[in-house]
Amino acid sequence: MKKTVIGILAHVDAGKTTLSECMLYLSGSIRKLGRVDHGDAFLDYNEQEKQRGITIFSKQAIFSWNDVEITLIDTPGHVDFSAEMERTLQILDYAIVVVNGLDGVQNHTKTIWELLKYYQVPTFIFMNKMDMPQANKEYLMNDLISHLDSQCINFTDMSAHDLETIALSDENILNYYLENGTIERSQLQKLIKERKIFPCYFGSALKNQAVKEFLDSMTNYIEEKQYGQEFGAKVYKITREDGNRIIHMKITGGELKVKQQISEDEKVDRIMQYRGNKYELLQSVSAGSVCCVKGLKNVYAGDVLGIEKKKYQPILSSYMNYRLVLPKNCDHHAMVKNLQQLAEEDPILHLQVSPQTQDIMIQLMGEIQIEVLKKMIKDRFLVDVEFDQGQIIYKETIRHTVEGVGHYEPLRHYAEVHVLLEPMPRGSGLEFVCDCIEELPKNFQRLVMTHLQEKEHRGVLTGSAITDMKITLVSGKAHIKHTEGGDFRQATYRAIRQGLKMTESVLLEPYYQFELEITNEYVSKAIFDLENMNAQFSIENKDNENIVINGIAPIRKMQNYQNEVLSYTKGKGRLYCSLSGYKECDDQEEVIQQINYDSEKDLDNPTGSIFCSHGAGFYVPWHEVYQHMHIALRQNQRENKNIVHHSSTSISDDELKEIFERTYGTIQNKTKNYEKSLKKEVSVQMKERKPQCLLVDGYNVIFAWNELNQLAKENLDVARERLIDIMSNYQGYKKCIVIIVFDAYKVKGNIGSKEKVHNIYVVYTKEAQTADMYIERTTHEMADHYDITVATSDALEQLIVIGQGANRISSRQLLLEVQSVLKNRFEEFQSQQEVSRNYLLEDIQEYKSKKR
Ligand code: GDP
Ligand code: MG
Repeated sequence: MKKTVIGILAHVDAGKTTLSECMLYLSGSIRKLGRVDHGDAFLDYNEQEKQRGITIFSKQAIFSWNDVEITLIDTPGHVDFSAEMERTLQILDYAIVVVNGLDGVQNHTKTIWELLKYYQVPTFIFMNKMDMPQANKEYLMNDLISHLDSQCINFTDMSAHDLETIALSDENILNYYLENGTIERSQLQKLIKERKIFPCYFGSALKNQAVKEFLDSMTNYIEEKQYGQEFGAKVYKITREDGNRIIHMKITGGELKVKQQISEDEKVDRIMQYRGNKYELLQSVSAGSVCCVKGLKNVYAGDVLGIEKKKYQPILSSYMNYRLVLPKNCDHHAMVKNLQQLAEEDPILHLQVSPQTQDIMIQLMGEIQIEVLKKMIKDRFLVDVEFDQGQIIYKETIRHTVEGVGHYEPLRHYAEVHVLLEPMPRGSGLEFVCDCIEELPKNFQRLVMTHLQEKEHRGVLTGSAITDMKITLVSGKAHIKHTEGGDFRQATYRAIRQGLKMTESVLLEPYYQFELEITNEYVSKAIFDLENMNAQFSIENKDNENIVINGIAPIRKMQNYQNEVLSYTKGKGRLYCSLSGYKECDDQEEVIQQINYDSEKDLDNPTGSIFCSHGAGFYVPWHEVYQHMHIALRQNQRENKNIVHHSSTSISDDELKEIFERTYGTIQNKTKNYEKSLKKEVSVQMKERKPQCLLVDGYNVIFAWNELNQLAKENLDVARERLIDIMSNYQGYKKCIVIIVFDAYKVKGNIGSKEKVHNIYVVYTKEAQTADMYIERTTHEMADHYDITVATSDALEQLIVIGQGANRISSRQLLLEVQSVLKNRFEEFQSQQEVSRNYLLEDIQEYKSKKR
């Protein structure tokens, strides 16, 4: 049997769900015809969908017709849910576009059409509601031809003229037709598949008219897609059921089996095939099928597996950001966690927590989506939330190509990254490429590529996300000893921000594509308004009375125009809007001023870099990074390869010294200083025979420290995290081993855990094991090899621990120690920044004067 996956798409109310039901009924898959209006449709089983009578979540059904096994995917039609619709497009073999015969082609139908074109999905059109007397076949056929595609062909009653139109779409077929006076089925199949023609059918889903004929014809022209032997899959959706993640995917190569290993630590637990809201468990699925998988934790909507390589990037996006308003007494922290779960199911929600205000911001497409989300939050988490007004989401791009450089080298860290940023046409999104001529080891190259893609990088004009750029990793450097996990992340982020600062940025804003229909008398008013909005448009006389104005305008200015049109035309005018994409903002200066963003105050997204001198890190602002960087710019490398040695894959201390000398000159005393600082490090290491280890009794310390104790009263989780943060900073400076132990002995059935959080270890004891006991045992086990200090204020523990040969400090002493270390290091850092910078400047001047 041939297998195919078909998506059914339309504007809301066109009759998608009704048509799906009718097809299922005809195929014998369901016994009785449900009705959307009665709330018992087979596919609309979600509570909210029943109430609203619209399809919110795309679902699937499977049925057979004429030896074709069809997986039918019903997608949401309302504009607010386009993101979900778009994600399913990437896995479709064919699409059915349902058009409402009473209205003809709508704005949203056009949006769908553009998307189908973008994803190159072969398409059939079903013109529905032809049972209504107003529906006019001829008028509708013209509507399709003029608004969608000139190659829309009436397959319900095909005429000789239609055959000629088909023949004209392909040279070979034209020749064949001229010779034989006919076109073969296989030729039609091919034309449909290549999107050279679009078969159109007329009927009524509700009255079951011409649906059977539609199915006959469609299955006759469907060609089965061929897939390779090697496993591949595309993930198009994540849902949750009883807390379990369900991964929806289409297999695009080989087959998927239960227990199959997807990556190093990911294994398929279960494979399910849904039919409406019921599912069947399967042992394996082969290429061409859609299925649901349980057991994968790190797979997200839009991901590709196996041989599939190109990650999916949506072209529709939300353009409004809403602030979530929580009721009083609601646990902010817990809510963020909950919402993260939702955001994972729908990545387009784009959850963000503002570091300054702690506001939770969510990107949404419109009113209905807001209502649905509110209800979902209420159902899942029992909280009534509200959303505020909503703000336009801006984006940023660049005008000219630039190479950004990021360097991260606090003491005992090292990474340098160079990225080339190139502007791309509007709507391209971001593209990431690895073209590293510097011999950075492959694992670091991969790491940088991950860091480039793992986060939304902020522009430097307004802090908005960047877009329409090609970002290429061109070079980078690691250190044999000192490069640590997080270093390349730091260098990568900084490289992008530095590049943005070095070139001219452009602010983009979302535009509507609009169609305004009014009568003659209002034309001058409309033109006046549109010009005020900086709209670009063209005017067309529809007939003697009616005028149609088509164009684009910034959403910022047009978003409330709908009501205005209704009021000045006394309800007779109509305005259709759909998202046209991001374009350059006309009053950039004004908007930037309003947003009032300062790239240099955005501490989470630094534009400068950290370099190292005399064993201490110092901050170099973006405009001076080129003077300090260790690898030359790619352009210069090409011009004069001899300046920099790329021979080694990472640098050693010697080489560091060489770079140092090259940059600042071989000035005697300077070099000595540098050597001295290297020696000092070594001697310090020599003295510390055993590595230091600090064991912290977590809760004891939390309750002894005022700040944490206050936090703990409101939320223990937050206090715990804060302590982990503080200790991890402390570790960053002291470089000792830090283990924080939290008592979890009262938690039933708890088996305990030990995890690494950043640079420190966090232990939760198991049931019936207290923190004391853990610390005691650990001290005993480690005392031979480590110099152990235990921080607690528990009297009993003190005795035992000292008996084991460990040092002890009280929680209070630990606080003083931590405070002084963090404070000193901070001041040292600042003062050294000043000193070493001036020092270096002097050196360079001295060097220059000597050269003269
Ligand atoms: P969807 O939003 O595209 O899924 O549309 P529905 O299937 O929910 O249908 C929307 C409305 O149109 C419902 O009230 C249906 O009963 C009605 N409807 C669907 N198909 C037809 C049809 O062929 N003729 C008529 N007259 N009404 C229809
Ligand atoms: Mg529906």
